[in-house]
Amino acid sequence: MLCDHKQCTGCAACAAVCPVGAIQMQQDADGFYFPKVAESCIHCGKCEHTCPVLTPRSRPDAVYPQAYVMKHNNRDVLLQSASGGMFTLLAQWAFAQNACVYGACWDENFHVQLRRADSMEQLAPMRGSKYVYSHAKAVYRDAEQQLKAGRTVVFTGVPCQIAALYGVLQGREYPNLYTAEIVCHGAGSEKVFDAYLADIQAQSGKKLKALDQTSKKRPWTKLIQRYICQVWQDGSESCANFSEDSYTAFYMKNLCFNESCYQCPWASVPRKADVTMGDFMGIGVTKRHYIKLKDGVSAVWFNTQKGVQLREKLSESTDACWEKCDLAECMEFNHTLWKPSTRPQGREKFLDNFNKISYSSLKAQYFTPKYKAMRVIKKSINMVLGAHLTACGIDLVQQKNGVPKKVQEKLLTLKELYGQSEEAECSKR
Ligand SMILES: Cc1cc2nc3c(=O)[nH]c(=O)nc-3n(C[C@H](O)[C@H](O)[C@H](O)COP(=O)(O)OP(=O)(O)OC[C@H]3O[C@@H](n4cnc5c(N)ncnc54)[C@H](O)[C@@H]3O)c2cc1C
Ligand code: SF4
Ligand code: SF4
Ligand code: SF4
Repeated sequence: MLCDHKQCTGCAACAAVCPVGAIQMQQDADGFYFPKVAESCIHCGKCEHTCPVLTPRSRPDAVYPQAYVMKHNNRDVLLQSASGGMFTLLAQWAFAQNACVYGACWDENFHVQLRRADSMEQLAPMRGSKYVYSHAKAVYRDAEQQLKAGRTVVFTGVPCQIAALYGVLQGREYPNLYTAEIVCHGAGSEKVFDAYLADIQAQSGKKLKALDQTSKKRPWTKLIQRYICQVWQDGSESCANFSEDSYTAFYMKNLCFNESCYQCPWASVPRKADVTMGDFMGIGVTKRHYIKLKDGVSAVWFNTQKGVQLREKLSESTDACWEKCDLAECMEFNHTLWKPSTRPQGREKFLDNFNKISYSSLKAQYFTPKYKAMRVIKKSINMVLGAHLTACGIDLVQQKNGVPKKVQEKLLTLKELYGQSEEAECSKR
């Protein structure tokens, strides 16, 4: 009745729509959530018809995407945002007209929950990427109620959650709904994350008060530099770079994603949300831009007519600057825009070990001094070369691996679908 375990994203749309509450989301041994159907099921088929894997839906007003480089003008906003502050710009536009915004926050157990924000104050904790599975069951119906009441809704989340919302809405297009997906390379295991939290608290002997997985402790002058910053209950703070943090290392090695993430149908073009927001890795390598990497920059795609109209409204704001760019430029350095993350060979063994050995032993096996040393060397080389030369180096590797050719093939699909290309007139390097 429900989709295959390996394809299930744990989006919880099925649980949200079940008329008799027969579906509970249950955590499995590896820390991922799947629906469990109780005997009270009346076999109405609603869950099946809602599931975005079993009943995929396309967007009727999809267009050839328009891509932009975007940066928020307020430096404080920029420093609190994971990339260039596109999420905050959307929220500013939304709140100015009494709309609401959905996004992800940490709860008191440092689990990630999608929630509704009705004000900038409620929005603040939604900033920053949380590299863990997020719970969304409670918000789909809430968003539907807001829409039915005529309120404008800006719904953000990972792409499978956006698809889940359209499933819950049974494909009905509400003119007052704007969806904005974040480019996503995977949902990290909540169980692995819990073990990590226990480990850092045991190591420090302190209780965690706040966590930022995309801190810009050091501004992005040379490279995209993100830090993991922990604020402890006693008011002290610790920060580590990505190579010094065990969970981030497991996450960045793709070791602890839900199985469905490695075949994610939404890590592809055409994108299904009105807006797609991501990092702009490699900015300035293949094309020149006026907007620079410093302090963060977003790559934003507008994928539907509604999205394009929204961009026109957003461009009236003086809170951000924009520059048109082309799709290939974003895609070359951002694979998850068009293909799912690679499943590492050792993924099964990693999760198997996670269930058998202590977190300290897991760290000893996978988060080795050699790994850390290699990361430090790599980072030092990058720092010396700077963002531009590093990205040029990556560009050469991409050329060797045939990435630009694969990107062109994807773009051809888009052109065949939408009949034209609206690539930007950016100056070539
Ligand atoms: C799990 C994950 C994987 C990502 N992978 C990539 C990638 O491969 N390539 C890329 O270019 N960008 C990726 N990003 C997106 C990127 O890091 C930024 O979040 C995005 O560009 C928005 O930046 P901002 O400056 O507008 O955001 P901010 O103001 O920092 O907003 C963050 C946005 O992310 C949402 N969010 C944060 N954590 C979660 C979560 N766990 N589940 C659902 N929504 C969440 C918030 O609700 C908000 O909409 C990823 C983000 C996450 C959370
Ligand atoms: S078939 Fe209907 S009653 Fe049964 S689990 Fe699905 S939605 Fe619930
Ligand atoms: S609706 Fe979501 S959680 Fe339910 S079966 Fe489908 S993918 Fe899994
Ligand atoms: S990779 Fe795909 S399936 Fe996995 S969390 Fe992201 S959007 Fe969902």
